Amino acid sequence: MAVRIRPVVAGLPAYRAGRPPQARPGLTPYKLSSNENPFPPLPGVMAAVEAAARSMNRYPDAGNSAIAEGVAARLGVDAEQVVFGTGSVAVLYQLLQTVCEPGDEVVHAWRSFEAYPIAVQLPGAVGVPVPLTADARHDLDAMAAAITDRTRAVLVCTPNNPTGPVVTHDELVRFCRRVPPEVMVVVDEAYVEFVRDDDAARGLDLLAEFANVVVLRTFSKAYGLAGFRVGFSVSEPGLAEAVRAVTLPFGVSSVAQAAVLASLEAEQELLARVDALVAARTELLTGLRGAGHPVPDTQANFVWLPAGSRTAEWAGAFEQAALTVRPFTPTGTSPAELAAAGLRISVGEPEANARVLEVAAGLR
Ligand code: PMP
Repeated sequence: MAVRIRPVVAGLPAYRAGRPPQARPGLTPYKLSSNENPFPPLPGVMAAVEAAARSMNRYPDAGNSAIAEGVAARLGVDAEQVVFGTGSVAVLYQLLQTVCEPGDEVVHAWRSFEAYPIAVQLPGAVGVPVPLTADARHDLDAMAAAITDRTRAVLVCTPNNPTGPVVTHDELVRFCRRVPPEVMVVVDEAYVEFVRDDDAARGLDLLAEFANVVVLRTFSKAYGLAGFRVGFSVSEPGLAEAVRAVTLPFGVSSVAQAAVLASLEAEQELLARVDALVAARTELLTGLRGAGHPVPDTQANFVWLPAGSRTAEWAGAFEQAALTVRPFTPTGTSPAELAAAGLRISVGEPEANARVLEVAAGLR
């Protein structure tokens, strides 16, 4: 007899990781499918990692105290408000484990980050997906209306992965006023460093007014440490303490902690790189729109190319050009399902971005 597996685990959707770049003769392949940072580690990171690796026979600091102090100082919060995990996706799992019982509900936009349905179902909760608006934004009115007395959490992704737009600060404040105070509001700011819209939501500014808000951040994107797996949440201290209780012990390795500290020291270089990626994003957006593609606004390090029923075909065209992008193929043939299908393309190396525009110019 086989081991009995919880039905919820057997039924989980798979997390699809971005495919590695596919080689083509004569073309440098580029992976533009995971919103990674194309730059090498920030100055000082390699040396810090090498030094930390010399003590790999020892466990890391379980309390993540140095990186908590570093992040707290950078963000203007207290270290006790910060909880680290093995990537922000792990912190999201912890947050939902902290508040959800089987049968509870979690409201989130859809399409949004594809780990959400998995994170919701693991503690036995039920996802309540709320469709994006026609311009690929969160429909916060509909999300507020979807809250019931079983709702334990709401997930707001700003900028939204995979479509790119932000929620505005005013919208989010109005939304939070409609959420009961015992319902957790997770503001997932994985791409916040790339935001240039002055009206965009600032999750940290909500913490003073709303004790139920949790801001989720990561070192995987702007900081370029995706391979080290470090993310964190910021919330009021009581909730942070509860989330720490469900944390995987030693989930952030000593080399990862060293890399975070060194990256925090390299602020000037970080800002310069983020500026370069934002400039490249603007060029991509302008070029794609110029080629006739109705690309929604993006404040992240990727663009969304609506492709409807041609999603797989267009992904193939990029593949032919040795560019791996992320297809979201239609889940059906209704107008709404076709409108939600498309390609997410990360801002990459200059040559990769130029090639994206060349390929896209030929797509109709
Ligand atoms: N949130 C969003 C919106 C994301 O797009 C991602 C990564 N794709 C994450 C969280 C998780 O990132 P990580 O686990 O690398 O911190």
